[in-house]
Order: sequence, then C-alpha cells, then structure tokens
Amino acid sequence: MDPEQARRLIADEPTYEWGFGEGRSCSLCGANVPYEGDRDQHTRWHRALAELLGVGWEDLGRRTPSDGALAAAVDGVVNPRGLRRLSRIATAGTPWRAIPDVPLGEHGAATLLFGSPGVVVARSAGDGRVEVRGGVVHVDGHRTTLAEQVRGAVGHVRATLEQGRRTTPRVYGVVVAPGGLVGGDPDPAEVLAADGDGLADRLAKLPEALVFGEADTLYDRARRSTTWPT
Ligand SMILES: [Zn+2]
Repeated sequence: MDPEQARRLIADEPTYEWGFGEGRSCSLCGANVPYEGDRDQHTRWHRALAELLGVGWEDLGRRTPSDGALAAAVDGVVNPRGLRRLSRIATAGTPWRAIPDVPLGEHGAATLLFGSPGVVVARSAGDGRVEVRGGVVHVDGHRTTLAEQVRGAVGHVRATLEQGRRTTPRVYGVVVAPGGLVGGDPDPAEVLAADGDGLADRLAKLPEALVFGEADTLYDRARRSTTWPT
C-alpha cells in the first residue's frame, strides 16, 4: 500500500454495510460490528487513530454556505415550515440534510442534499430570471450551459459515492433560480429546475428510493472533506 493510500484509509470515516450474517461490516477495516453493540465506539476508535496520526478530516456539513440565496432555498427543504412541516410529520418522512459548497473538481462546487429519494446536486442560476426552453436553461434571455454543468456534477457525485458500495444511489441535479423561473425541467429527466421558494415542493415530488438509514450513511460519507480530494 502506498503512503497516500494508507493516509486516506486512516483519515476516512467508516461506514457500515449490512451483511448477511449477524452484524455489519466496517468499510475500512472489515471488522464485524454486531447489530446490538455500539457501532459508534468503533467509529470513535477510527477517528481517535486519525487524530493521533494528524490526518483528520474537515466536516463540510458545518461550513457556512457561500451563496445566501441558494442557502435560503436549501433551508426551506431542510427546515420545512407550516403545512410542509406538518405533512412531513404525518408521513414520518426522512428529513433532508444538506452540505454546502462541496468541491467537485473540474465541475466546480455544488450544494448536496440527502433525503429518501436519493442525492440532489443543487446549483444556483444567480439573480437573473431563469427560463427553461427546449431543455436549455436561459438566464435573462441568454442561453447558458447550466444544465450540462449540472449533469457533469451529477456524474461526478454518483461516481464518488458509489465507490466501494454495492448499490448506486439515485443522484439528481437541480438548477435553483432564486430570481424566478419560467418553464419546465430541462432534459434529461435527472436535471430539474426550481425557483427558490419552490425547491422543497419540487423535491417532495421525487419518488422514495432509499431504505431507512441509507440517506444518513451517504450524508456521513459526503460531509468528510477526504471524500472530495481537491
Ligand atoms: Zn473499522
């Protein structure tokens, strides 16, 4: 094992895959952690080792978002109010969680959301008025490549999060238009469009795809800076 690989392995946070036996296996060291036992103890052991060796990771989920308008739209999803909040309680749906400004290499940065439909890669179209025509996103009347950019980011996120996993999570892209939106979703189906206030409603229409606990596992992995090498 080369030193950089060893460093990444130590700095990483384990996830726990459901096994066929009597426990869950640790993604890093392969140890079998029993259902009944304290899996957090095992996680803490890995983290203590990383801290001891000085190769810890930054929690991206605790960063302050750089884009206020996008953050406000995302907050409407993560902290639903009014009727939306009531309906979430009534359906016992998994709450959404978000990570701002995740670095996606050549695809720039995007905000990631994690909920029972899967992962959503959100990028703002800025202050301009957004119109979706013929699958193309126009901002203030100008044709943009936003849909293509988001599609590239979706591919990057999917490839990163499926590493070492048995299943591929469903990943959607969404162009958020805080300045207002005209028209429908751009093609293909995995790229959506929503205005700032409408993001929560748009995501509520996505089909449920993840089983209990899966969204949390993906979130835990994505919030670690080591998951997204820059
Ligand atoms: Zn382990």
